[in-house]
Amino acid sequence: MNIFKFGGASVNSADGVRNFVKIVQYYREEMVIVLSAMGKTTNALEEIVDAFVSKQEGIDSKVLSLQKYHTNIINELFPKKDDRVFLKVESFFEQLRAYLQKSPSLIYEFDYDQIVCFGELISTTIVSEYLRLSGTPNKWVDIRTCLKTDDTYKEGRIDWELSQKLVPQTFGFTNTFVYITQGFLGGTTTNQTTTLGREGSDYTAAILSYILDVDKLAIWKDVPGIMNADPKWLSDAQKLERISYQEAIELAFYGAKVIHPKTIQPIRKKKIPLQVRSFLDINESGTLISMAYKKQDQLIPVYIRKQDQVLISIRPCDFSFILEENLSALFSIFAKHRTKVNLIQNSAISFSVCVDNSDRRLKNLIAEISINFEVKYNENVELITIRHHNSEAVERMTNGRQILLEQRSRDTAQFVLL
Ligand code: ASP
Ligand code: MG
Repeated sequence: MNIFKFGGASVNSADGVRNFVKIVQYYREEMVIVLSAMGKTTNALEEIVDAFVSKQEGIDSKVLSLQKYHTNIINELFPKKDDRVFLKVESFFEQLRAYLQKSPSLIYEFDYDQIVCFGELISTTIVSEYLRLSGTPNKWVDIRTCLKTDDTYKEGRIDWELSQKLVPQTFGFTNTFVYITQGFLGGTTTNQTTTLGREGSDYTAAILSYILDVDKLAIWKDVPGIMNADPKWLSDAQKLERISYQEAIELAFYGAKVIHPKTIQPIRKKKIPLQVRSFLDINESGTLISMAYKKQDQLIPVYIRKQDQVLISIRPCDFSFILEENLSALFSIFAKHRTKVNLIQNSAISFSVCVDNSDRRLKNLIAEISINFEVKYNENVELITIRHHNSEAVERMTNGRQILLEQRSRDTAQFVLL
């Protein structure tokens, strides 16, 4: 049994959905399909959440344009008589509108999950119906009923014990060959919807792979596989044929945007191979992520760029050194403001970190640190990570640029550049 995960870009149009069906029918194997919301739907729903919680005008037209986007796809795919899919999707939009009629709850993250979930509920409904119409019977599963999380809305933490009981019951493969379900969503024990964090569908696919102990997980994307750099940035980027789980974790950790960082751990535990491959070319094998095997890892340099970073330099005001107490105070401030630290450098009297600027909590974070520390920061810097660096690769990245900070280990070199 396999799990196939398809991202939003693969089903962002009627042609995309047709191509999806072609791939699924080509394989004719027992499978669970995990699907994201269509195209940029999650972004559109996030805008609706923001409008809802801040009580802005214009929500109706935002919902309407999202509905039109989906209706156009349905119109292209289904004969007008197939009203089943129209009714189902219509009913999701009614539920969404009904939620938006209410006043926002006091918890932003709760409202977020109750609204954003419709992207995946709708995409899976359309795709499941179209697959059926194309001759492949399949079962649509509401993943919220079996993938259970705690109530950390917007970042639901998996309840492994309960999910391990419920998921195999739900995906029993007795009279069903193909299941279609939502990535990114979960449900609490009291049946409230949660989400697993942006781009979380990969993680869903990995969790289901682990629990169902599948033979293989394939993540279908709009790139040929995992590349040694974002090809939109470096046009000579090359595909990595095979990498180890360890290497994949490192790449995702440093910010390579190919797979969600949490994806690898569950499949590594059960040694399930993961293929990252292109839905545009079924004959391309993509990148295989599996057990380490020395020669497997192509040790060519891999370049990862994070833009719009802030480099924060912190010194104690009282001439003390940066020792355990100061470090632990600082880390608890970072944790409190849920700021992800991308790089740390420590010296006797100063402590530097590189963080994402997009975080709206950054101002509060800096204000809180400034109570006991002297804080300086540079905005708009870039963090470049090179795995398997060599002098040529370093030269390529740093040539002509001001290096604010650098760090090298045997495998990894990182530069904060202006
Ligand atoms: N639809 C969600 C997002 O765009 C989850 C995913 O695509 O993985 O973040
Ligand atoms: Mg996506």
